[in-house]
Amino acid sequence: MRLIENIFQDISSHILPTACIVCGVFQRRSICVDCATLLDSERLSNYECCQQCGLTLLANEIQEQRCQECVNNPPHFDKTFCLDRYDGRLQSALHQLKYQGRIACAHGLASAWNEFLAGDLKTLQSSYLLPVPLSQEKLCTRGFNQSWELARRIQCSNHTHKNPHILMRHHHRRQQAKENRVNRQLAIQGMFYINPAYAPSLQGSAVIVFDDVMTSGATLNEIARVLKDNGVSRVINWVLLRTRRPG
Ligand SMILES: [Zn+2]
Ligand SMILES: [Zn+2]
Repeated sequence: MRLIENIFQDISSHILPTACIVCGVFQRRSICVDCATLLDSERLSNYECCQQCGLTLLANEIQEQRCQECVNNPPHFDKTFCLDRYDGRLQSALHQLKYQGRIACAHGLASAWNEFLAGDLKTLQSSYLLPVPLSQEKLCTRGFNQSWELARRIQCSNHTHKNPHILMRHHHRRQQAKENRVNRQLAIQGMFYINPAYAPSLQGSAVIVFDDVMTSGATLNEIARVLKDNGVSRVINWVLLRTRRPG
């Protein structure tokens, strides 16, 4: 099925013009040459970032390679790799994917990841790549999980199994974005769980968690806590867009 999808995309990309997901100009690539050049020069992954949480480092943090917050209160995850800033050139395409259901943007965003970041990460050994899950209720409303739509299209080691059925989420009614950091941390406790069928296979493994956006890091921290409580030895975050350092 995946092979047929790839062949179809390959053929259609040569026959049909497509709109650049950044500037909207019709041409043959999902990101036009000009936008790809700008993205390549501006992307967050070019900068010195905290190895643990992905924030850009201040001058006095560069030697440590970690931000002060991660030194003072180390999160449960071990590393974070982010493609770009939330307020950068890819934000609009991500919004079109999430809020207008434009799945074509998932192809474009994943191709940006594959072009600019996948090469640096291909030697990273991990047993699983898990998308941050939506609750069943949210999944029914939106119709798809944007993190899975991106994760299933990005390149990773052949030994890494992508699976959207291992990490699960309870439904939660509160709107997370409107709450402050402490409340978020509290609100998110107990929200994630591991599908018992997969629990034995996680023992001692390294796991990549893929999220479309990382803001406070509370969600990914809670996920890492749950994974490590279930025997995972190492948790690495792969994030499409990272918000800036608070304050
Ligand atoms: Zn463009
Ligand atoms: Zn940090």
